[in-house]
Amino acid sequence: MTITSFTELGISEPLLRALEDADYQTPTPIQSKAIPLLLDGLDLLGIAQTGTGKTAAFTLPLLHNLEEDNVRPGKGQARALILAPTRELVIQIADSIKTYGRHMHMRSAVVMGGVGQRPQVDALRRGVDILVATPGRLLDLIKQGHIDLSQTEYLILDEADRMLDMGFIRDVRRIIEKLPEERQTLLFSATMPGEVAKLSRDILYEPERVEIAAKSIAVDRIDQRVHHLDKNAKQTRLAELLAEPDFDRVMVFTRTKHGANKVVKLLERDGISAEAIHGNKSQGARQRALDNFREGRTRVLVATDIASRGIDIDDVTHVINFELPNVPESYVHRIGRTARAGAEGIAISFCDASERSHLRSIERLIKRSLIIVGEGPVGPDVDSVENRKGRPQRSNSGRGRRRRSQRRAA
Ligand code: AMP
Repeated sequence: MTITSFTELGISEPLLRALEDADYQTPTPIQSKAIPLLLDGLDLLGIAQTGTGKTAAFTLPLLHNLEEDNVRPGKGQARALILAPTRELVIQIADSIKTYGRHMHMRSAVVMGGVGQRPQVDALRRGVDILVATPGRLLDLIKQGHIDLSQTEYLILDEADRMLDMGFIRDVRRIIEKLPEERQTLLFSATMPGEVAKLSRDILYEPERVEIAAKSIAVDRIDQRVHHLDKNAKQTRLAELLAEPDFDRVMVFTRTKHGANKVVKLLERDGISAEAIHGNKSQGARQRALDNFREGRTRVLVATDIASRGIDIDDVTHVINFELPNVPESYVHRIGRTARAGAEGIAISFCDASERSHLRSIERLIKRSLIIVGEGPVGPDVDSVENRKGRPQRSNSGRGRRRRSQRRAA
């Protein structure tokens, strides 16, 4: 059964009124799936990215449950903790709490780095219903004795994969150690790298899994692979690939003009016909390079992102990302050069150690992991939940948590 109204979801009247004020007509898919489970007190693993309505999906049931529990926070305590990787996200979540909780009397506070800690400490002193925080500053305040999480019954981790990228996972684990074992825990992540999958197994108890696919990005037909390798091995690997006869019409992408020129020079040294297009070339030179490529006189066109916009060439057999773009959307534009007009295409990305976080942002955007090929260090996503059989196990078994509904009945 698909739930199509917020009333059917079972959230309380003050929340329904706030949603009406905000002119939300119908729940998004993640909201209709997650909210009933969360009202029931279950743990949740949410695989979803920003834009799906996930903030409301966790904030609405949290506000509902906190009101129903009807307890006051003790001094320096928080009844619920939401952890997010960045200040921007913390502020956004705090705003959502204000919007959805406007007809309730919930006290919330934010804790984040980059601003003075004094006002944050003052806000915490009396205790809060909901605390939204970045991990680093929160851990600081815990160490200084300003906050006590021993009575925090609700924990939400938002954008866990970004926390991993930013090196916060250890801090997150330290913070969670301060919480009681009897609690409801939610973890949201757009992708499931091994570390995040492990964290979810450790902190969630028999979680329900809700997965929302990314908006349709037409990259499904493209075979996408990644080679993990050293930066200085890229040129050799490129030449090896181009020695294969089926690499017939190939676009190679670099981040910089200088990089594009260098690749062309080295390919020519290896006897492979290649030309570059980028912003430093005259319009005439760019057009000639494009024509040569289109007519098959050059096999390889090396381009930067900006120069490649709007290029329409059919039958590109392979796109090779010599360097990964730091803007993930550029990846989608780049690989869209292959598989045009219904053809199958192949996209190969080179990823050195410094590009791992770019890779993860891309995988988050396209909502899939690239296939890892070749030698080199093991990729960050090989240990994903999807690769494991069966239901995730808790590593610290025997902890006596029960479901919220059971806790209530007891
Ligand atoms: P999020 O994925 O949580 O960042 O939300 C994306 C945007 O969608 C936010 O601007 C929300 O205010 C908005 N939004 C969330 N749920 C709904 C809904 N059910 N109806 C309309 N807008 C929504």
